[in-house]
Amino acid sequence: MAEKKLNGTVIVTYRCNARCTMCNRYKAPSKPEEEISLETIKKLPKMYFTNITGGEPFIREDLADIVRELYKKSDRIVISTNGFFTDRIIKLCEEFPNLGIRISIEGLEKTNNEIRGLKDGFNKGYSTLKKLVEMKHPDVGFGMTVQDRNAKDLVPLYDMSDELGMEFATASLHNSFYFVEAKNIIHDRQMVAENFEELVNKLLNSKSPKKWFRAYFNHGLINYIYGQPRLLPCDMAFDTFFIDPYGDVMPCNGTKCKQVMGNLNEQTWDELWNSEQAEKVRNIVRHCDRNCWMIGSVSPAMHKYIWVPAWWVIRHKLKFWTKKKYSMYENKIVRELRDGKVSKEDLDKLSTCDMNATIENGLSDESKEQLKHKSGEEIVDEDIEKQYNCNESK
Ligand code: SF4
Repeated sequence: MAEKKLNGTVIVTYRCNARCTMCNRYKAPSKPEEEISLETIKKLPKMYFTNITGGEPFIREDLADIVRELYKKSDRIVISTNGFFTDRIIKLCEEFPNLGIRISIEGLEKTNNEIRGLKDGFNKGYSTLKKLVEMKHPDVGFGMTVQDRNAKDLVPLYDMSDELGMEFATASLHNSFYFVEAKNIIHDRQMVAENFEELVNKLLNSKSPKKWFRAYFNHGLINYIYGQPRLLPCDMAFDTFFIDPYGDVMPCNGTKCKQVMGNLNEQTWDELWNSEQAEKVRNIVRHCDRNCWMIGSVSPAMHKYIWVPAWWVIRHKLKFWTKKKYSMYENKIVRELRDGKVSKEDLDKLSTCDMNATIENGLSDESKEQLKHKSGEEIVDEDIEKQYNCNESK
């Protein structure tokens, strides 16, 4: 029997040079010497898809070695990045022409720079994208986390990606150990949903079947920001996994506290994946009520339960042919908020936002120790400065 391939996400570092308002990971970096090694990466199973993420993955100077090793076991690799380290990104794409690159851009210039807190971040990210397009790199795209502050830029950014012939990935605000704090919430759900509705109609109106399925994903985001149960079951930890910088294997990055199935620094993959602890975590997933709708958990579910999005696409394409469009009011909860049957406060209670929650940020004791002396921002800034000074003096 052919070996079953998995869908994996490798968090290569918790260090990040951006200061995103919806992700506080920059305050809680990992120590470089503790971050996942090539030896541990060699122990990963065969994968049909691997996402490399962080933190900011390009902070790791050995990223090319990691990608080289992962290509021995993965059919497709996509790196999520803030696009700041243009030279490193271009160099890696020259070596690996099939590598996917997703650059997070949180809106048009002003909004992006305010949300990401990166000086000249928009121009840096955009010029990286343009360079990749100029070199005809085939798998390039934008990623945007939609919130009140940037919802109005959603469709203009989609149009920009469309003009450049790029992929356009969306997400909305989540709260979990991965984002370090639990204060993310959409305030004006109706306004945000209206922007998603416009995007859904643009995607449905395109000629690309892939975009029709993206329309379904964005329809699911409207459902998510209204705090409703997921449209598809969550099967994380069954054929999908995350591994963090410390070698801890987890079902996902959406749980409030880190759920650990085992540690790949200490165990073999088979021991870990078939362990009692892994089964316990699968049981937690089976009963998980966080209802996240992030591409990492939804994409495998859309493939597995393909008839659900496929039927939705068929119904909505048929509507288009009769000149009717997708309406966000197809969702009962959206009508109920409009008609005053539920209140904003009722929906706020359904979100995972908890202003008073103390989140266990998933750092090792050693990584926490370094935060007693310096802030995460100081540690990472010094680290990057050192990297560049060393390279210049070589
Ligand atoms: S719904 Fe799925 S992806 Fe979200 S926290 Fe629960 S198990 Fe993780």
